[in-house]
Amino acid sequence: MALCVMPKGALPTLIDKLLETQKVVGPKRVPRGPDSSQFGFGEIKTPDELELDCPYTILPPKHWLLPRDEKLFTFKLGPQPEVTPVIEAEPTVFFGVHPPDIAGIACLDEAMADRNPDPNYLIRRDQITIVGTEISPEEYRYAKFLGNDVPAAGYDLFLTDIGDAYVCDVATDKGQAIVDLVETRPATADDIAAVEAVRQKTMAEAEDILDVNVRLLPLTMTKAADSGVWKTHAEPCFRCGSCNLVCPTCYCFNVTDVVEPNLTAGARVRTWDGCMLDPFATVAGGESFREEARQRLLHRVSRKFHYQYTKYGHPHCTGCGRCVRTCVAGINQFDAINDLLAEQAEGVPHGR
Ligand code: SF4
Ligand code: SF4
Repeated sequence: MALCVMPKGALPTLIDKLLETQKVVGPKRVPRGPDSSQFGFGEIKTPDELELDCPYTILPPKHWLLPRDEKLFTFKLGPQPEVTPVIEAEPTVFFGVHPPDIAGIACLDEAMADRNPDPNYLIRRDQITIVGTEISPEEYRYAKFLGNDVPAAGYDLFLTDIGDAYVCDVATDKGQAIVDLVETRPATADDIAAVEAVRQKTMAEAEDILDVNVRLLPLTMTKAADSGVWKTHAEPCFRCGSCNLVCPTCYCFNVTDVVEPNLTAGARVRTWDGCMLDPFATVAGGESFREEARQRLLHRVSRKFHYQYTKYGHPHCTGCGRCVRTCVAGINQFDAINDLLAEQAEGVPHGR
């Protein structure tokens, strides 16, 4: 790891130079007027569009790696059928990614490289450079519990705002190539102390939101299936699937063959799907093996804190809080887990 310091005034030059050779994606105001207080990861065309101090984005940068609709290949039928893969990838810098979203990309990397490696994702991922920035603990109140309140790994370059400059933590060659675009100076002991102070403040202000050590959750979830907690918490669920769509670690998709009217050509397209949606668990004959909302909530939480946890060795929830912020029914999976923990500790079935 190498640390250097870049004056804040050099940031526009840095972005301009990056734009000469690659696409830059970062937090910008969503197009709802200049007073919009909502942000999303979009293509940055000029340095002033980049909103590095934004509290959070509606969506993580996932859709730039795993598009909502993606053509996987085209095909032609006939005596000599043809299949042509479609892979769209170009060098891109994700600029201003918060630690929970960096952790989300690491989760996608694991899933997409596992068993049947996904070429579209992996080729695109290979061309991505990640530049991280620090979070605000009020906005990411669940991140501390998951260890993502301060950065650990998964970035090429990480910027910490220390007032009139950024301390740049260069983690990879890709990160070094970015800082080489502008003049920097080596970090001093005072600069490092300033970064420590920023992170100490974040860690002190972030809340502990679950009544358990996260490492115990896989065990907790093995005893969760019959709990009444899921029914209580899923009661107001509209089955809209928003919690899946905004989650940086949800990657389920549906695949459809779109055939042209002449029936001789077409394309295979994949589209995001979500386990909270009605058709997700519906099989031939119209039967659903997770018909009730409580079953879906249990499944969703199990994916985050049990199944993927035991498979990959860490939770597949980053604590970004988007599922909680987005849910129009006010469902909070962390409240459900706390109720589950209380039920297991007291030995009294929930709701009795
Ligand atoms: S489950 Fe919720 S808090 Fe966890 S990563 Fe997904 S959206 Fe973020
Ligand atoms: S966002 Fe809320 S209402 Fe919509 S599916 Fe998820 S839990 Fe249900």
